[in-house]
Amino acid sequence: MAKENSLDAFVKGKLDALEKRALRRVLVETARGPAAAAERGGRKLVSFCCNDYLNLSQSARVKEAAKAAIDAYGAGSGASRHITGNHPLYTELETRLARLKETEDCVVFGSGYLANMGIVSALVGPGDLVLADELSHNCLMMGARLSYAETHIFRHNDLAHLAELLDAHRGNARHCMILTDGVFSMDGDLAPVREMGELARRYDAWLMTDDAHGIGVVADGKGSSFIGGTKADVPLQMGTLSKAVGGYGGYLCASRAVCDFIRTRARTLIYTTGLPPASVAAAIASIDIIESDKELTRRPVEKAKRFTRALNLPDPESPIVPVLLGDAGATLEASKMLEVEGFLVTGIRPPTVPEGTARLRITFTAEHEDADIDRLAAIIRERIMPKRAAE
Ligand SMILES: *Cc1c(COP(=O)(O)O)cnc(C)c1O
Repeated sequence: MAKENSLDAFVKGKLDALEKRALRRVLVETARGPAAAAERGGRKLVSFCCNDYLNLSQSARVKEAAKAAIDAYGAGSGASRHITGNHPLYTELETRLARLKETEDCVVFGSGYLANMGIVSALVGPGDLVLADELSHNCLMMGARLSYAETHIFRHNDLAHLAELLDAHRGNARHCMILTDGVFSMDGDLAPVREMGELARRYDAWLMTDDAHGIGVVADGKGSSFIGGTKADVPLQMGTLSKAVGGYGGYLCASRAVCDFIRTRARTLIYTTGLPPASVAAAIASIDIIESDKELTRRPVEKAKRFTRALNLPDPESPIVPVLLGDAGATLEASKMLEVEGFLVTGIRPPTVPEGTARLRITFTAEHEDADIDRLAAIIRERIMPKRAAE
């Protein structure tokens, strides 16, 4: 047998170790649509783990807009936005997003991940301070790391702990950013953005919320900064076009000065190719629908509520409902059992969630059938909850 090279030996060892801990990830081919349907290995399933909360990726109007953009502008944008990639649809999308979020301006990025990496590292650096909620999305944390700013983590949604860290560290730093998800991606709960905004202002800190799971589905589709009716004091509203908006891309809504600065300094905007015209056109059509159909934007949370009520869980704050199982292996087993029953619910394991908190992350979309929700709830109540309680 030929001697194995060190590269393959290294990665195989890593893969074996992950496999033993039920933490290895593999990609599974999945076709989606119509609505909440999915197909895997030739089997038709109902998906309860997709972030396409309004099913807009499948909307005839949105798909038509994308096709028309391809015919008008081509399949790709050809270069970064600063070279030739800034096709005419960008201005319209940025204007529409700024209007929805009630800001002066907006910058669209290639993805939400790119947006967070670029925004945080453009605004703060060495000598500055970043304070982040412990459950913030990975790309906020990576943005903080890329910035080289001193970073401290506060306990989840704990304003007192945040104030403590501000008292301890704000004085030594030039600038300070506070980072949090608006709607937490793996738990579905909301950040106290209104109170956080007030706290940030008192300490001259810049609050940035990641509303990937808020736009389109909370506060009549306007997102987590608008819960309670008026806009909270959040100078940096970031989000993605890849979830309820149904396509792909990321954005920052902020003041004109901030957006002008980001356009000229965010590395993940400057050194990457502009979005394909079809993605930008699809997002414009989706924002149209989100702005004009409030009933649609309320439906995912209503569907989630039908599910939590059937299981005697607290009412949901978003379309995301976690069912915590703790153990990664048990979570994979539960997910497999649900797939046999015709449901697609991917298990979520560390490091996506903290050690010991592996879970089923169940998401609801506007077009889920009530009968499917009821059957899913019944199976979880009878076959998953009892095991959980026994632990
Ligand atoms: C999905 C997600 C992102 C990344 O957005 P993409 O557009 O998929 O890159 C960022 N933040 C949160 C909270 C997310 O859930």
